[in-house]
Amino acid sequence: MNSDSEFVQRADTAVYETEEPVLYGVADGIATLTLNRPTVNNAQNSQMTYALDDAFRRAVNDDLVKVIVLRANGKHFSAGHDIGTPGRDINKSFERAHLWWDHTNKPGGEYLYAREQEVYLGMCRRWRELPKPTIAMVQGACIAGGLMLAWVCDLIVASDDAFFQDPVVRMGIPGVEYFAHPYELNPRIAKEFLFTGDRMSAERAYQMGMVNRLFSREELEAGTYALAAAIAKQPRMGLALTKQAINHVEDLQGKRTAMDAVFAWHHFAHSHNELLSGDKLGGYDAKAMIQANKTAAGERG
Ligand code: ZN
Repeated sequence: MNSDSEFVQRADTAVYETEEPVLYGVADGIATLTLNRPTVNNAQNSQMTYALDDAFRRAVNDDLVKVIVLRANGKHFSAGHDIGTPGRDINKSFERAHLWWDHTNKPGGEYLYAREQEVYLGMCRRWRELPKPTIAMVQGACIAGGLMLAWVCDLIVASDDAFFQDPVVRMGIPGVEYFAHPYELNPRIAKEFLFTGDRMSAERAYQMGMVNRLFSREELEAGTYALAAAIAKQPRMGLALTKQAINHVEDLQGKRTAMDAVFAWHHFAHSHNELLSGDKLGGYDAKAMIQANKTAAGERG
C-alpha cells in the first residue's frame, strides 16, 4: 500500500489577527523583539516563528546591536505553540530557513517530522547559537512552546507572577520539541515538572537556576534593561566568543545529541497518537488543554 496515493493535502485555512506578530526596535545598543499576539496569549504560529527568525537576523546584522531582549505584549509571555487559534497556520508553506523540504504535502509521520525539524528544532538551535547575547523577559504564562522561546535565550529575567509549565505529557508526548528540560532543571526536578505537568513558579525556577533575576511586574522592564545595558558595555567579539564557549560546553555535556534522540521519541509519540486515535496531539486542542489544566489544578487543590 502506498500511503502517498491516499494522502489528501490539508487546506490552509488560517486567518491572521495581525500582520505584525513580532515587533522590532533598537535603542542604546539593545534590540527589542516583542511577541505581538496578545489577544491569543502570544500563541506561536508559523507566521510568528518566521517573523521572529527575521527579527533575530536583523538584530545580528545590525552592528549597533550588542544585546537582544525578547519580550511579549500582554498579560502572558507565551501560551505555547498555536494549537487552536484562527491564525493556526500549520498547513501553510513558508520560505524555509533550513534545507528540510516543505511538509504541507507530505503523508504520515513525515508531515510533522519535516515541519518540526524546521520550525521547532531547527529554529530554536539557530536562535540559541546566534552570536549576540539574548535575554528573555518573561511575565505571566510561559507554557510548552513558550519554554522554547525562553530557553534559547542566554539569560531569563522573570516577574514574580511568571510561571513555567510543560503539560504535553498529557498528550502522550515526552515534552516540547526543544528538549532542554534536564539541562534547564536538574533531572529529578525535570521529571517532576514533566510527570505532573504542574506550573513551576518563577521563584522556584529562580531557585533552580533557570531564571537569572526576579522582579515585581512593575520593575521587570527596568530590571531587564539595566542588565542588558550592563552587558552591552562589553566588546562584541568577547561576548560572542564567551557565548560560543559556554554553548559548546553544554553540547559537550550532551545537550545537542540528547535533543536529537528525544526529538525522535517525540515523533514516535506523534505517530503513535495518530495510529491510535487519528490525532497527532492525542485529541487535545487548546481548549481541551486549558480545561484539563484547570481540572488537574483543582484536583491538587
Ligand atoms: Zn511536536
